[in-house]
Amino acid sequence: MDLTHRPRRLRQDRVRGLVSETSLEPADLIAPVFVDATTDERRPIETMPGHERVPIDEAVARVEEVLETGVEAVMLFGIPESKDPEGTRAWAPDGVVQEATRRITAETDAYVITDVCLCEYTDHGHCGPLEEELRGEDVTEGGPACEPTLTVDNDAALESLDRIAVSHAEAGADMIAPSGMMDGMVAAIREGLDREGFEHVPIMSYAAKYESAFYGPFRDAADGAPAFGDRRHYQMDPANAREAMREVRLDVEQGADVLMVKPALPYLDIVADLRREFDHPVAAYNVSGEYAMLQAASEKGWLDLEAVAHESLLSIKRAGADLILTYFAEDVAAALSN
Ligand SMILES: [Zn+2]
Repeated sequence: MDLTHRPRRLRQDRVRGLVSETSLEPADLIAPVFVDATTDERRPIETMPGHERVPIDEAVARVEEVLETGVEAVMLFGIPESKDPEGTRAWAPDGVVQEATRRITAETDAYVITDVCLCEYTDHGHCGPLEEELRGEDVTEGGPACEPTLTVDNDAALESLDRIAVSHAEAGADMIAPSGMMDGMVAAIREGLDREGFEHVPIMSYAAKYESAFYGPFRDAADGAPAFGDRRHYQMDPANAREAMREVRLDVEQGADVLMVKPALPYLDIVADLRREFDHPVAAYNVSGEYAMLQAASEKGWLDLEAVAHESLLSIKRAGADLILTYFAEDVAAALSN
């Protein structure tokens, strides 16, 4: 038998590292942080073990915990003290994300990325104001007659996104991350930032964000579940891959600096396609459902949590992501630095 080719030669202990194709570093990771203006104390998020919503007064302490693990960047999500149909608290100078950003950037070295969307700020939970003719009682109460045509007013949402992004930059945000999948959102935000003198602030676009059931636990975390309907009229159809390239290309043309795919694990083909098609840094969001399912299985003793968390993040990098947003950021980073 001719066994000239024996791949096992390079799997021996002392050579494995030399031929390893992918590495995972704490500096690749971004930790999501939830700041809640409705609470005075830290509140655990039941569906995401190990994660909490923290009051504004605890935001700096929370970010310091992240930094201690070796993770250098955080993504801030806010839960406002009140909601309304337009989501006006999203761009309030004294809003929850603005206040937390001011404190975190003043007191820590964390790189602060802010999520820019309206769903946590609107009382109906959609990612922008509703179309005028649909804003009746039937709509907010989920009247079946309206349901098939419910949607967000895209161009009205763009004006709000411009305001939100500028207010975050004024508070000191290092990077702006629009997540609402509105057509033209990157252009609107770029224009707003440049107009107000924030040309240096990059935009990480949630460029290919799918309408995914894996977001379930996050909705507990951020109170962001839509009061009626779903988000399939603006987030992408999980069946579509070619459309993702078209979506992403539009964001590139509008000036996106970093391109994100969300969720990560069920969409690694999209991450790999992006890596091939574009030169921009690619980010992937390892979402709450991807986190929760591993946590639940490990609670039952069915999986080794540390091992599967590491393997998941490694696979996301191998597919082509440069940076990963993940609820495992702190645990994996701490394990990597040990
Ligand atoms: Zn949203």
